[in-house]
Formats: sequence, C-alpha cells, structure tokens
Amino acid sequence: MRGPRKTYLLAMYLSVGLLTACSATSSPLSPSSSPSGKPAASPAPSGSVSAPPTASSSDDSKPEDVRPPEINTATLLAVGDVMVHSPQLPAYYDAKSNTYDMSPWFERVAPIFMQADWVIANLETPLAGADLKYTGFPRFNAPAELADALKGAGVQLVSTANNHSMDRGFTGIVRTLRNVRQAGLVPFGTSSSPEDAERLVIEERNGIKLGLLACTYGTNGIPVPEDKKYAVDLIDLPAIREHIHRLREAGADAVSVSLHFGTEYQRMPNEQQIAIAHDVVAAGADVVLGSHPHVVQPYDIIEVSAADSADGEPHRGVVIYSLGNFISNQSEEWQDVGLIFGIKLTKTTDANGESRTEWDAISLTPTKVHMQRVNKKKYYTILPMEQSIKAHNNPKLTAQDYTRMTKQLESLNKHLQSLVK
Ligand SMILES: [Zn+2]
Repeated sequence: MRGPRKTYLLAMYLSVGLLTACSATSSPLSPSSSPSGKPAASPAPSGSVSAPPTASSSDDSKPEDVRPPEINTATLLAVGDVMVHSPQLPAYYDAKSNTYDMSPWFERVAPIFMQADWVIANLETPLAGADLKYTGFPRFNAPAELADALKGAGVQLVSTANNHSMDRGFTGIVRTLRNVRQAGLVPFGTSSSPEDAERLVIEERNGIKLGLLACTYGTNGIPVPEDKKYAVDLIDLPAIREHIHRLREAGADAVSVSLHFGTEYQRMPNEQQIAIAHDVVAAGADVVLGSHPHVVQPYDIIEVSAADSADGEPHRGVVIYSLGNFISNQSEEWQDVGLIFGIKLTKTTDANGESRTEWDAISLTPTKVHMQRVNKKKYYTILPMEQSIKAHNNPKLTAQDYTRMTKQLESLNKHLQSLVK
C-alpha cells in the first residue's frame, strides 16, 4: 500500500503573501511509495497550469516507469455564510420586473473567484419562493435570484447543510435544491429524496476529482421529518467516515468536508470543533471548511497518526474553523468580516498509473462587507480587504474606513495564524 508522504512544502501565495507550512496527503486509491521532494509551489495565478515534473526516479524503475510523472493542479476557494437579512433586500428589488438582483454584492470578489477551479460557499438560507415569504432572522427565506448572483460571481458549489436548512420545512429544502440547480450551482449537504441522498458529489477540475460533503450540528430545533431523515446531513462521525469512504471508492482524489459547527461570535474554536475536525481528518478528509460562528476563526493543520486514522495510514489535513460571514447585515465588530480561504491541489500520476494528490499553498484573503445607506436603503459590497486598501480608490470609503480596515486586516492576519505551530 501507499506510504505516508511527509513533504513539507513552503509556498508563498497570493493575497497576504504568507509563508505557509503545508502538507501532503494521498488517496487510498493511489498507492505509491516514492517520496516526493517537490519544490515549493510558485505564487502562480490560481488555476490550471501544470508544474514541471520533479526529478525523481524510483530505485526499481522498469523501462515504462522512466517517463516523467504527469502533474495536474487545481485551486479551491471557499467562503463562509451567505446570509440574507431583511434590510439587505429593498435596494436590490426592481418593482417593474418584480425581481431581485444581488450581483452588486459580489462584484469586487468575482474576479478572485474567476481565477479558481472550485469555489464553495455556505448558503445559509432557503431559497424557497416568494409565496413562502421572504424573511430574515430568525427563520430565513431569500429570493432565488441569490443563486443566480452567486453563480454569476463564480461560485460553483454551495453547502446547504446548516442550522437554517429547515427554516421553510422540507418543502424549503426541495425548492432550494431546485432553485440552486436551475442557477447552475451544485448543492451538497441536503437532499430532496432518498435517491437524491445517494448521490456522491465529485467535481473534477483539470483531471483532479474532488469529493465534497457538508454536515451541520443541527437545524435550530426544527425537526427533520422522521420519514425524511435523508433531507439534512448531520454531523455524525460514522456517517461521515462512510461518506468519505464512498467518495474515495468512487475515485475522489481529495475530499473536502464542510462543517457547520461551533459557537456563534466566538473567535476561537471550542473543544468540540477541535475534536470533530481531528476525527474528520482521521476519517480521510484533506480539507475541513468550518462555518456558523459568524466571525472568522483561525486555521490549523491537523496531523493524524497511522494508529488514529480510519485506514491505518497517517493523514494531514487543513481546517479553517470558521470562514465568518461572507455577506450579511451583521455589523458588529468582526461580524462584517469574512475569509476567502484557498488551497492548491496537486495530483501526481506516475507512469504506472499510480497517483497521489497533495495540498499546499494556503491562501487567506479576508473580506469585509461594506454597507452604505442611501435614501433609507442599504447597499452592500464585499471588499477584499488587502486589495481595497492597496488600491485606495473606492469613493464609498472614507479615510477613517481605510484606517479601520487596515488595523482590522493586520489583526485578522495574526488571528488566522494563531493556531499554527
Ligand atoms: Zn449557522
């Protein structure tokens, strides 16, 4: 069977230009025993370039094995909670056509998304139709046009398992899934039928297959109907283990697990989050994408020994405990800030067909929701903080806004790294 790879890659990557220690993981389907000493990934634009093959040859190479390995790369970006509170809607409603257009929220982050291969968001509201009434807190329902706006901005995949999944009951789940699919998004974490629940979400980019699953700690006390338990994936470790196993069996080179968990407004993960993230990496996840606390929590790298892992192999995974609010009307300190979290996946396929997939090049791009009141309506834009500070040319921002954002960004960058040894 495959051996552990303990490649530590140093990679400097976009946005905050961090030096980040990274790890290597591999798929159980990809047996390989040759250690790889790949050089640090260059800070290349995200996307689909093939890195030059590494100069390595195995000791017992047969003639057909001498060909250089094939290298594929693809980048993943993830954002946190996409929320729609009532004050967010009036400015984006067109009475003439009776439609909404939320695309302005995303116009400044769309260019970042467009460079990535997978873009994942947590859709924290049903899109269940106007007849079920659009409402904000505590039980949400937002216009289906939100899905179009997300898709237009470059989001491709939406986790729909969160504590608001059931805000419009099972009907809301079915309608939300229909609406996001109609917009061209791929949902995961909720299901409209037992057959739908059997589907595996595996998205291939540049020859790399990424398996995705999403689970939530609960549904705000709104019960999932007894005969429709398949509707929402809950955080249940044996089920997660089984799901990851099925994704790997179906050919996933890497697995991303979205977890809706933690304590609201707490800037550090709690003991339970840390334990769950560890167990999910032990079950074979490469990436864990946390959301729910509505503030950004740090990322960490989790190492699991062979003795502790589900498949008897050591694993290294990366977890971002909370991605924060991507868009919302929450304006308290740190609640108007979110994170675009990124990694690069590299799949190395040897001449004999064996492959391994590794992640590196963590990218951290903090965002801030800028809100402006004009004629009693509220207008929102998600700003990539560092880019906005550098450009310093946004007429909507005052000198004071820039000073505050600069301080926040500095503090946030430290905060994000605070768990990494
Ligand atoms: Zn939540």
